[in-house]
Order: sequence, then C-alpha cells, then structure tokens
Amino acid sequence: MATQVIDLRSDTVTKPDAEMRKAMAEAEVGDDVYGEDPTVRALEEEGAAALGFEAALFVPSGIMGNQIGLRLAAPRGTELLCDWRAHVLLYEVGALAALSGIQARPLPSEDGLPALEAFRAAIVPRGDYRVPTGAIALENTHNVAGGRAFGRDRIGPIVELARAAGLPVHVDGARIWNAAVALGTTPAELVRGATSVMFCLSKGLGAPIGSLLCSSRDRIAEAVEIRRQLGGAMRQVGVVAAAGRVALRRGPERLAADHAHARRIAEALAERPEVEIDPDVVDTNIGIFAIRPRQGAGEGAPARDWGARARAAGVLLSALDDRRVRFVTHRDLSATDVEEALRRLGGLA
Ligand SMILES: *Cc1c(COP(=O)(O)O)cnc(C)c1O
Repeated sequence: MATQVIDLRSDTVTKPDAEMRKAMAEAEVGDDVYGEDPTVRALEEEGAAALGFEAALFVPSGIMGNQIGLRLAAPRGTELLCDWRAHVLLYEVGALAALSGIQARPLPSEDGLPALEAFRAAIVPRGDYRVPTGAIALENTHNVAGGRAFGRDRIGPIVELARAAGLPVHVDGARIWNAAVALGTTPAELVRGATSVMFCLSKGLGAPIGSLLCSSRDRIAEAVEIRRQLGGAMRQVGVVAAAGRVALRRGPERLAADHAHARRIAEALAERPEVEIDPDVVDTNIGIFAIRPRQGAGEGAPARDWGARARAAGVLLSALDDRRVRFVTHRDLSATDVEEALRRLGGLA
C-alpha cells in the first residue's frame, strides 16, 4: 500500500478546497486589462480594506508584487535597506538590480528585523558621495529567519524613522496574516504608516494563485502600468480571484492551528540528539532547525542527508543549506498528519 507523503516543504503546496473550486466555477468575469472583471475588483477592494490602504492590485505572484512595490518606492541608482536574509534580496533572482536598477544594502539581524539603530546609521541622504538611500523594506513574518513575527512595538519606530527621513517603506508581508494571528492583532495595524505592502493569497490562506499589492490610489495606478510591462496583466482572471476572495475571507481562521502544529513539531524535534531547534522562537507556521554532523561522518552536508532520509520515510522538508532544514505547516495538514510525520521522523536512523 502506498503511504501518503506528508509535505512540509511549504504552505504553497495547499490545493484549492471545494468552496474555492465552487467559487471559481461560478465567478463573474470580464477583461481585467480593461478593468472590467468584477471579481478581481471585489478582491482588490476587500484586500485594500483589510490592510488599511486605499487601493490594491491583484498580481500573479508575491515576487511580482514585491518588485512592483519596490520599483515604485526606490528610484534607480539608490539603495534599498533590508535585512541580510530578506526574500527580496536572496530569493527574487536578482530582480531588484536586474529589473529596477536598485542596489540592496543588507543590514545584520538575529531574527530577521534589523535594529532601529542599524537603519538609522545606514541612511545616506541625497547629495552625499555615497549611494543615496531610496527606501526601506521589511519582511513580516520573516521566512528564512524561521517565520518570526514582528509587532507594532518593533515596526512602528522604523516606520517613524523612515517617515522623518522622507523614505518609503515597503512591507514584504507574504505571510502578514500569520504575523497578525500570532500577535493577536490585525494586518492593518502591523503595516500602518508603510507605503506599500504585498501579501500572498497562495500561501497559508490557501488560494491556488495570486498576491495583492496594497498602497495609495496613485501608486496603484502606476503599479498597473508596471504590472503590464512585466507581462502580468491578465484577462478573465476572476476565475482565480474568486478563490482569492474565499482565501481572504476564510483563510485566516485556520492559521492558529497551523501555528500550533509547527510548535508541536518543533517541540518533538528538539528531543532528538542530532537536531538543534528552540521551539520558543517558532512564532508562526515555519520552523528552521540545524542538523549536527554524525559522528565520524566528517563535515559534509548533514541537512541534505537528513532531508533525503526523511523523504525516504515519507516526509518532505526543505534543506536551506548544508546544515539547516525548514519545515512549514499549512491547512492541508491535520493534527493526525502532524503526528504521523513525527512518527516517521522518529524512525530515522
Ligand atoms: C513566498 C514569498 C514571496 C514570493 O511569493 P511568490 O508567490 O512565490 O512569488 C515573497 N516574500 C516572502 C517572504 C515569501 O515567503
């Protein structure tokens, strides 16, 4: 009997549920390039309202949403201040430089959010010999720092600093709903004062495709042009936006359970001698752990080796590099699946 593989690689692996598929089948559509798709318009209005912005733009991917937001935020030939492990820096195929002529200036941090003082010290005014600062990017939750969620107490002062320096702030909020649920607040509160935010419908919220870029009406009007330039303008895309509307309405309800599952996995893994993880820093649905090299195995790539053995046992994880492995919980995993995954991982030699 084939056992079902348990997929902990990402929350992007979720499949549209029956309610989403029904909404997709019944969606009213029109040509969105003419601004005539009523389902897309409704999604954009609902998304903007939820995040506390005037307007939003539906884009095919989180990367496109980030890159449009950043293009609008930082002029060519300026620096974007961001965390050293930011998605916009490390996982967007050089788009900042390649598409927008923006130079990233990575700042150090322990948990994914550089200190206020680090931002303050890094800001270069125009008219200096150095590259001027164009904008600030923040990531919440922070993906490869392990799904860390940052509250208003940490975000607020950075937004204030940027405002005083006349700098736009773009929030890569791919998982801003996870942050809000974990912190017992709203996404709007977390992004208040920022210039733009991108969030994904296709991750923990469960839609098959799509993200929203939220900002002022003027910026979103410009964003429409850039989306078109990037080849991201779509036609009767209400069939997809319909799933996004269900994701936005119903998705957040589920996230607390995903977070509890991630905490459970972290606590169980912390018991294993070869695993290094602190369950107390698993704020949301992502956990990152290190694998200690096996006795006599040399340096090698213990994380890749461990990941391959987990795969053979029927659990999929992501090796981030030679030492570190990431797991992500999501709505297609039940509490029973989580226990079964732990049982299989518990059997690894
Ligand atoms: C997934 C992700 C993105 C990009 O989303 P795609 O839809 O895969 O393009 C951006 N930022 C962060 C932090 C992410 O985790």
